[in-house]
Amino acid sequence: MEIIERIPFRLDPDEVARLLRFNPSRSGFSSLEDLIAVAATQAKLKAVYEISYIGAKNEDTVEIGGVVFRSRVLRQNLGQAQKVFPYIVTVGPEIERTAAASGDLLRQYYFEEMANLILGIGASWLGEKLKDRWGFPRLSSMSPGSLEDWPITEQPKLFSLFGDVEKTIGVKLSDSLLMLPRKSISGIFFPSEKGFISCRLCPREVCPSRQAPYDEKLAAEYQKKKISLD
Ligand code: SF4
Repeated sequence: MEIIERIPFRLDPDEVARLLRFNPSRSGFSSLEDLIAVAATQAKLKAVYEISYIGAKNEDTVEIGGVVFRSRVLRQNLGQAQKVFPYIVTVGPEIERTAAASGDLLRQYYFEEMANLILGIGASWLGEKLKDRWGFPRLSSMSPGSLEDWPITEQPKLFSLFGDVEKTIGVKLSDSLLMLPRKSISGIFFPSEKGFISCRLCPREVCPSRQAPYDEKLAAEYQKKKISLD
């Protein structure tokens, strides 16, 4: 297990303004630069990851690091994999507190969205680092709770691979299995030649975080595919 205490990141003001659809006349201030500076100070981007080996596989289960996960899609995605990288990335609680204390709904929204951006940068940074270190041409990721097939109830299993996650990087699970601080992401990076994006299998009609269109044909293939038990 490796803990990365500080992942480097930089927010480009023009890019942030574009992604957040910043409108000076609506917000009442001319630029986001002051808020970006606060967000950059408040976000403590860190991560923990593990190198886990694949064990027994079944139709819709796969053993990772000695823990049995139940997901047909994950099982298929790990068909040929021998090792994978479970991970948790967080920006910490400070930026959430800043957002809540900003006293203005729009500023709160900007802080929340910048925290999401920073979190995404952290996850990508970690994926790139693992790809380069282990010489994989491509890594994809799946997160518990992103698809009906791999529900949030599998989250404690993922956490169990790291022992005391709260002590390690300050993230814990709420009673409803959500991560606290909220601006955290967990998942498993795995080698993938074609590349996998959960959104392609997700039929949700309205989702501001969608990264790829729903692919009904691909979703049906995952359901129908006959799995060889190797
Ligand atoms: S479309 Fe939205 S809810 Fe569905 S997997 Fe993508 S990000 Fe998650």
